[in-house]
Amino acid sequence: MPETIKYVLSEDQMPTAWYNIQADLPTPLPPPLHPATHQPLGPHDLAPLFPMELIKQEVSQERTIDIPEEVQQIYRQWRPTPLYRARRLEQYLDTPAKIYYKYEGVSSTGSHKPNTAVPQAYYNKQAGVKRLTTETGAGQWGSALAAAGAVFGLEVLVYMVKVSYHQKPYRRALMEAYGARVVASPSEETHAGRTILAAHPDSTGSLGIAISEAVEVAVQDDDSRYALGSVLNHVLMHQTVIGLETLTQLEMAGDYPDVIVGCTGGGSNFAGIAFPFMGASLRGERSVRVVAVEPAACPTLTKGVYTYDFGDTAHTAPVVKMHTLGSTFVPEGIHAGGLRYHGMAPLVSHLLELGQFEARAEQQLECFAAGVTFARVEGILPAPEANHAVKGAIDEALRCKEEGTSKVILFNLCGHGHFDLQAYIDYHAGKLQNTAYSREAVEAALSELPVLG
Ligand SMILES: *Cc1c(COP(=O)(O)O)cnc(C)c1O
Repeated sequence: MPETIKYVLSEDQMPTAWYNIQADLPTPLPPPLHPATHQPLGPHDLAPLFPMELIKQEVSQERTIDIPEEVQQIYRQWRPTPLYRARRLEQYLDTPAKIYYKYEGVSSTGSHKPNTAVPQAYYNKQAGVKRLTTETGAGQWGSALAAAGAVFGLEVLVYMVKVSYHQKPYRRALMEAYGARVVASPSEETHAGRTILAAHPDSTGSLGIAISEAVEVAVQDDDSRYALGSVLNHVLMHQTVIGLETLTQLEMAGDYPDVIVGCTGGGSNFAGIAFPFMGASLRGERSVRVVAVEPAACPTLTKGVYTYDFGDTAHTAPVVKMHTLGSTFVPEGIHAGGLRYHGMAPLVSHLLELGQFEARAEQQLECFAAGVTFARVEGILPAPEANHAVKGAIDEALRCKEEGTSKVILFNLCGHGHFDLQAYIDYHAGKLQNTAYSREAVEAALSELPVLG
């Protein structure tokens, strides 16, 4: 019998509902607060930003929410995605562990981001919205939303973090090919951007700043709404198609994970792979160890504090309780641009407080080394963000080897690195450095936190 490498589902095995972990939380999420009044937000407070269907999903306590037929039909272009057994990597590491990875790089834009870009564009279109504004770091989210906007005939305006705008011109070109307008952030086009530029003319930008710009434009235009690529409850819920498919695929393989590894920027791909399994754990059905890997340059989960903070730099986005390095903290310009967010999804933060998973911070050189090993052995070049998950999975496999235990390791390969080759060029030229985060900068940012809740 040949050994199976990939576990593939047919289109009719794709999940027809998302999983909402809020239904299984032992204690509810602390409520989001209004940025000006600091009172709990009502649905009407969010209406200038999001269509009502997404606001309802944000607060829903239902365990499952049906995926609209039209969204399922678009998902089928790349879903279900393959689950691979990394047999060559297992051999290379000489580990008794079994390593599986779910590959989200097969989507149109090369990452998990279209899983939420498509439903967000869909619900906005249904609500009569004409234009979506958003931020993007590395460009994965901007590309995904630009593609989804093209499908539904929505205009898309993307504020792209300046350091990425210059590092990743091909991502910009891709967004423009889909018809989006891309602006380097901070820009002169918004009050938030002009304020930052006045104080820091050389600012390389940050996701927090780009969010401020996109939010500002959305609230000022009745035909525009704002779309966020991570962090929010509904975004994490849309990503659960990843883990739900994986459950079925691992059943085909006759396995269940002992440990799940994901990389965390805002927490959405991590939630996507892990929440369906964590839910089983929370319901007392079957337990699993879960590991989040974040960059040492932006160590939100391992070095941040769990408190109420603003989602953006200009303090116009909702205030949420999360692990944060402070909303004015600007991390070093590491190549894993998608992991440079000062905060973490409230749901992921809450689950860390509940002891449902552990977090580790890794340096970029070690992550690139893991990614290059993975590419040479398995053939797929990971996105720099995904390298953090690869590093975490390899470490788990090596630990199994040391201990002589055969565990089942599952990780999410959330995107390919074909648009990130400049990062690999720099890595191989010895131009990348391990950059610790600045403790002073974090302390300064944390000292500006609102004193609440
Ligand atoms: C956006 C992105 C991330 C970070 O965002 P999460 O919400 O933490 O998933 C990680 N990897 C890739 C490939 C991305 O595009």
